[in-house]
Formats: sequence, C-alpha cells, structure tokens
Amino acid sequence: MDFKTSRSRWTAQKAEEAADQLLLYAVTLAELSRSMGLPARLHFATITKAKIPVVQLLPVETDPGRVEVLTEIIAQVWQAIGTGNFYPTPMNCSTCPFRSRCPAMSRK
Ligand code: SF4
Repeated sequence: MDFKTSRSRWTAQKAEEAADQLLLYAVTLAELSRSMGLPARLHFATITKAKIPVVQLLPVETDPGRVEVLTEIIAQVWQAIGTGNFYPTPMNCSTCPFRSRCPAMSRK
C-alpha cells in the first residue's frame, strides 16, 4: 500500500496513471509474498488535504507487461547516467533537485 496525500480525491484513472512506482514495489515484494504464501495486493491509500479529509483505498492491478516496459526504461536511463548523457529539459530542469550538480547545466 502506497500512502498519498492529495489536494483532491483520486479517480481510478489517476491511480492507474500513478501506479508505476507501486508496481515496482510489488516486484520487490513478490518473492517474500511467495515464500510466506501471502497474496500481494496493490492499493493506493489517499487522504485529501482538506478541512474534512477524505480517505480512499484504490486498488491497482498487477501488470507484468507494464513492469517489463518500466524495467527497460530504467535500464536505459541508468545507462545514460553512467555514460554522462544528460540533456536539459526545460520542463523538468527548472525544479530538479540535482540542478547544481548536473553536467547539462554546466554546459549552458
Ligand atoms: S537538471 Fe535535472 S532534469 Fe535537468 S538534465 Fe540535469 S538531472 Fe536532468
């Protein structure tokens, strides 16, 4: 279960869109789950940051195909980092916590 705070209620679609990290958590839990004979079910638990908070429990389906795609993306990003392949991206760089140490920023 991944706990989140939010300004507003989540929809099932929002939970589906935000599920990448949760799906990767499930991969790390899979062996433990199998060895203990306990099923692993994925959920987001959200609470709204309102005067009267709303708590939601939203299920997320496991998806081996999506995990495979995520794993490939992570491998490519890791390889790019290892080779020092950084490209500034205006949308992300302005709020990036690694900006002061980023090779792409020193080339500007
Ligand atoms: S500043 Fe951050 S987001 Fe931009 S290229 Fe560097 S590491 Fe990536």
